Amino acid sequence: MSRSPYQRYSWQSEIFTCESHDIERYMALLDEECQRLNLKPRTLGKVEGHPIQLLQSPKASAGLPSILISSGFHGEEAAGPWGMLHFLSGLSPELFEQVNLSLLPLNNPTGFIKGHRFNIFGENPNRGYLAGVDDAKPTVEGKILLESAQLLQAASKDGILTCHEDVLQTRTYLYSFEPRQQPGSFSQQLLAALAESFDVAQDDDIDGCPVENGFIFNHFDSSFEAWLVRSGAKVGACSETPATQNFDRRILANSAVMQRFVDYILAH
Ligand SMILES: [Zn+2]
Repeated sequence: MSRSPYQRYSWQSEIFTCESHDIERYMALLDEECQRLNLKPRTLGKVEGHPIQLLQSPKASAGLPSILISSGFHGEEAAGPWGMLHFLSGLSPELFEQVNLSLLPLNNPTGFIKGHRFNIFGENPNRGYLAGVDDAKPTVEGKILLESAQLLQAASKDGILTCHEDVLQTRTYLYSFEPRQQPGSFSQQLLAALAESFDVAQDDDIDGCPVENGFIFNHFDSSFEAWLVRSGAKVGACSETPATQNFDRRILANSAVMQRFVDYILAH
């Protein structure tokens, strides 16, 4: 089996009482959370009129860890962006006295609206960041993010988490990056957060990568997350929730892995 770039997926959320591709409702609820938390929105660029937004905690401080959470690179992986909204709804503004938090909630708005993987130009928005790995060139979204490279590298200096889903899987797994030979406590804790909602994938080959104990470890492709780790992020992870499972469960699992990522950073 392989992923179709244009197969359209739509799920109903009971939590948010809407369809997964309802971008108007998504942006309206995101805006409410931004105002409540006093997050600073910055439009890095636009794709077909839709903003690629970076949200940052107010008054970043040099003495605090700086971490970045991103989602919505693939349009059919909708529980990432909705999970981020759920995660934000559980935060209190006092968190920003402990961490400089940056968020990229929706990096492929045209794919999100259609509910399909690629953008409407037929490009994969999670390839083409790290040069020399494959033949992929930056997409329209990638160019927007790469134009803000310095900003995003500073924002992810202590860690990057990006939240994806896998429409072919019934189980969860995690790509992770740590400066060591085997997955350490960072990887273990994030996978444990996902494993509270789903069984962990058995050892197998997924997209040409060996999965061992639920991890694809230190795999450098031309993805956004691999690029930021190569650029200096201390740790990195890409969570994969199984999109054959219930949508709200996946939203809650994405929210939980984001919270665990923050908790890990605060404890280290
Ligand atoms: Zn993905």
